[in-house]
Amino acid sequence: MQLQSMYQEVILDHYKHPHGRGLREGDAEVHHVNPTCGDEITLRVRYDGETIADVSYESQGCSISQASASVLNELLVGKEVTEARKIQETFLELMQSKGRVTPDDAMEDVLQDAVAFAGVSKYPARVKCALLSWMAWKDATAQVLGESALEETA
Ligand code: ZN
Repeated sequence: MQLQSMYQEVILDHYKHPHGRGLREGDAEVHHVNPTCGDEITLRVRYDGETIADVSYESQGCSISQASASVLNELLVGKEVTEARKIQETFLELMQSKGRVTPDDAMEDVLQDAVAFAGVSKYPARVKCALLSWMAWKDATAQVLGESALEETA
């Protein structure tokens, strides 16, 4: 496994300088674990109507899981929930592509820094690291909006 090829500059930058780290007031809190790697995250979301007012988190684990949480914070805070779900679904699609999807301009527009994880999709064990915070966000959002976390929106 070429670890170096995955640890791109964008990912390292988010890892070293995480956006929005720390737990703040929230409408729901979830704790998710990725047992394959040992990553853990406690994540809170706060909504202002349909708008994501804040996503705060405490996480520990590998650089991919931590960088991903930082990217999530940067991308989702301030977005309406419908737009945030579109971003989450696009990211999921990329991460499940097993390295076969090369992000085009449209995908880059939606995902911004999250396209840096494209290379990670080739490594099944690492995909869970990248998706940990996104699944936590989805779960927390479902709780706030009173939906079943098991219900797929896709
Ligand atoms: Zn990990």
